[in-house]
Amino acid sequence: MQFRDLQKQYQLLKTEIDQAIQKVLMDGNFISGNQVTELEHQLASYTGVKHCITCANGTDALTLALMVWNIGPGDAVFVPDFTFFASGETPAYEGAVPVFVDVERDTFNMSPGSLEEAIVKIEKEGKLIPRVIITVDLFGQPADYPKIREIAKKHHLLILEDGAQGFGGLIGEQRACSFGDISTTSFFPAKPLGCYGDGGAVFTDSDEWAKLLRSYRIHGKGADKYDNVRIGMNSRLDTLQAAILQVKLKAFMEHELEAVNRVADRYSQELEGVVTVPYIRSGFLSSWAQYSILLENSENRDGLQKYLKDKEIPTNVYYPKPMSFQIAFTEANCIKTDSFVSKELSERVLSLPLHPYMSVEEQDQVIYEIKKYFTGNL
Ligand SMILES: *Cc1c(COP(=O)(O)O)cnc(C)c1O
Repeated sequence: MQFRDLQKQYQLLKTEIDQAIQKVLMDGNFISGNQVTELEHQLASYTGVKHCITCANGTDALTLALMVWNIGPGDAVFVPDFTFFASGETPAYEGAVPVFVDVERDTFNMSPGSLEEAIVKIEKEGKLIPRVIITVDLFGQPADYPKIREIAKKHHLLILEDGAQGFGGLIGEQRACSFGDISTTSFFPAKPLGCYGDGGAVFTDSDEWAKLLRSYRIHGKGADKYDNVRIGMNSRLDTLQAAILQVKLKAFMEHELEAVNRVADRYSQELEGVVTVPYIRSGFLSSWAQYSILLENSENRDGLQKYLKDKEIPTNVYYPKPMSFQIAFTEANCIKTDSFVSKELSERVLSLPLHPYMSVEEQDQVIYEIKKYFTGNL
């Protein structure tokens, strides 16, 4: 069994993907081919955002957004403590100070209450200027934007939506990657919409920021790439990846998002009461980057993981430690707040195999073994 079966997806989309790749090879426009611009229009249309600017990966997408806002030394950037490293790494790389904020036990996303406490603390201290809230749509569920937007307005902060895991999610009718003043995503192969290598995108409704993003991603270009008006970077999505993503986006919109929700719903129905199943807020839709259950404690979690491994069922721990426990983050380059929920989650969480092409038989096997582990027999 595969944790996320990308080969199966390829087998099903093979004809179209092979054709798309072949076309790029024949045309020879490996950088900035038409497919890149076409994909950007398709992504903008799907998310309902005016501008989509693709780039080399989801980490660069975050960096580009921070560059546009000129975030650097002296600035405070609020980041959930329970996320992938890049969410905290990018503001630190720009010289700003990430302030790690605790998350909610049920949704795993940034806690609006802890966020506001952290903002007030930084404002009172008066040493750093609060500038940006980086929200993460963890495991595919959008963060609590109605509440976080209110807090951002009250304290005059920008929202950078890290939608690397959230592409496709919804709050009501509104798509993920449209909730930030700037939003980003990643096309790393295992993300909800993945390519066959690295890729990423930035989304914004602002014409001015879109123009800056297009410049920063190609060496701070002005009129062309040999006219350089600012210090930028080289962060393009290549044509091959764009061509592959066009095929995958179609499948994602037509059936994959629905299919992965069907698989997740079935897990929840079957495992409710056996373990703590993921909680999705009413009116929210997850794109299920991960299906993460909670166990009583770390012994229970590690025991179940080992048991499933022996049955050849792959699982993963996202994330084994909060950001503020990473060696890279010290008193010198970040601010840690009380994040006991993040710590607790890192001890109790376990992600199960999940993808749009998972068969009922495969899923039954996972469900059967988890129940068996807890009841001894069935
Ligand atoms: C994967 C991920 C990123 C980084 O994306 P890459 O394309 O791997 O650079 C950033 N933030 C979160 C929350 C992620 O899961």
